[in-house]
Amino acid sequence: MKILVIGAGPAGLMFASQIKKLHPEWDLRIVEKNHVDDNVVGWGVVLPGHAQKHPANPLTYTPADKTVGEQYLNEFKLTHNNKSVRKDTNVTLCGAERKALVRELRQLCAGLDIPIEYEKSIEEESDLDTAAYDLVVMSTGISHTSAYYREALKPKVKYGSNRYMWYGTSQVFDAMNLIFKKHDKGVFVAHSYKYSNDMSTFVVECSEETYQKVGLDKLSEGEAEDFVATLFKEELEGHSVQTQSGLKWRNFMKISHEKSYDGNIALVGDALQSGHFSIGHGTTMAVVGAQILVKAVHDHSENVALAMEEFNNNVMPVMQLFDKHATASQDWFETVENKMDLSVEEIAHSFSERRGHLPPLPAALAQVLGRALDRGVN
Ligand SMILES: Cc1cc2nc3c(=O)[nH]c(=O)nc-3n(C[C@H](O)[C@H](O)[C@H](O)COP(=O)(O)OP(=O)(O)OC[C@H]3O[C@@H](n4cnc5c(N)ncnc54)[C@H](O)[C@@H]3O)c2cc1C
Repeated sequence: MKILVIGAGPAGLMFASQIKKLHPEWDLRIVEKNHVDDNVVGWGVVLPGHAQKHPANPLTYTPADKTVGEQYLNEFKLTHNNKSVRKDTNVTLCGAERKALVRELRQLCAGLDIPIEYEKSIEEESDLDTAAYDLVVMSTGISHTSAYYREALKPKVKYGSNRYMWYGTSQVFDAMNLIFKKHDKGVFVAHSYKYSNDMSTFVVECSEETYQKVGLDKLSEGEAEDFVATLFKEELEGHSVQTQSGLKWRNFMKISHEKSYDGNIALVGDALQSGHFSIGHGTTMAVVGAQILVKAVHDHSENVALAMEEFNNNVMPVMQLFDKHATASQDWFETVENKMDLSVEEIAHSFSERRGHLPPLPAALAQVLGRALDRGVN
């Protein structure tokens, strides 16, 4: 088969590496809009379970003798009114640097002789000759690219009402931290955890009204960093927050689709369905979606139309469940200002119940992933 993968992020790289392992003779090509040396946008992410062990953790597919300095997190800590509650998460989470993770997955592809062409962007329908490929995998992340294929792919784009900014900090948070801070102009929430020996992710969010009242839109990058560092000074213990190029205060962009393919174009990862960062599952969903696509294409390599149908039937239910979980979580954070009178125990309870009405996501993921990885004898 001849396959084009657009976008060298976790979704595209996972699909390319896993299908190539099954079919070394197939012709694969990856195009990536950024320069090879450009920083991958984002600090650290949480992944499920142990690297090298958990099938939805992308580090399980990278060489066992390599480490990205990943950190394990087994506790959750919520701070409100300067009081904290700490609980066992009941699962192991793996904090990992996004840049290092993508680097390892790119090296995995390079080791399998899959060329990655950098600074090559496919933006318009006219940039893409779909007939020249048996399969085109669109793994462009949260971008407007699929909007250019609007007719066929019908993306739904919705922006969250809160503003958020993805900072990094040298303060090492040894648990999954959720910190609520009351400011005289509104409420700020920080989501923080370590992802290396000396760095943590520090995502800060607030309502649009609070963002405007504080005047964050008028502050320089450095002034906004100082504002955040001062606001969370107790938790940061004197550490600053750092801005990465390409990141700014944004409204979360959610992309959804009713269908995961059109003709021989398949969508995976955030390009298919993005979900709010407060449930920390985006990379996991990229791995799961890529593995479902691998299974469908492997099982029906002689009939791409059938492969696409099978991919769609298996991927859409789990993406829709992910969307429900992520949206319930996003809604909770977008209305959290109303809960500021609750005690720390009450707010921790409300937080843990925010998705309780939904079927559990990990069980659904384990089931589809188990099916996708059961590929039989090659
Ligand atoms: C604040 C924040 C915190 C998060 N925290 C977590 C977390 O804790 N855990 C977690 O699992 N997930 C987290 N995520 C989500 C996670 O980062 C994404 O879900 C994941 O990166 C999706 O992978 P992807 O490959 O689909 O997209 P991406 O990682 O975005 O990769 C897409 C790639 O395609 C390239 N590209 C884009 N357009 C084009 C084009 N037109 N032509 C060629 N190339 C193109 C891009 O340059 C990029 O390299 C977080 C996201 C945010 C915003």
